[in-house]
Amino acid sequence: MSLSFEVVAAVEELLAEGRHSQREIALKVGVSRGSVANIFHGRRAPLPEDLANPLHRPIAKCPACGCRVTLPCQACRARRYQEDLLAGKREPPALRETPGAFGEHLTAAELARLEEVRRAKIPPALYRPLHALCEESKDAA
Ligand SMILES: [Zn+2]
Repeated sequence: MSLSFEVVAAVEELLAEGRHSQREIALKVGVSRGSVANIFHGRRAPLPEDLANPLHRPIAKCPACGCRVTLPCQACRARRYQEDLLAGKREPPALRETPGAFGEHLTAAELARLEEVRRAKIPPALYRPLHALCEESKDAA
């Protein structure tokens, strides 16, 4: 059974006061001595606000890839996303309507380098050169 945030906070406060034994705190708050000892040693279950921060999540073995990660596994999530894109189960993200989104602000050499990096990073089935994306964007508008 996990203790409520209020109960854990009350135990922590009494422990911090340093005037009561763990046995007294257990009786006062109505929890077991074991629970007080666990809170004292920092072994309590993580609180919801702890879990919101990935740095506070426990490291566990990902059931899909077997790597030791903080769950949910972001690598597997990215892999599934890419597989869904390739399988056509998901629409590619909309291009951002920001100036320079198609590299207009770059020199010819920078643009060539950007294209080289994109070609290396984007799966071949999804790769389209920036100028093609630019034309598609104009057609859609
Ligand atoms: Zn994984």
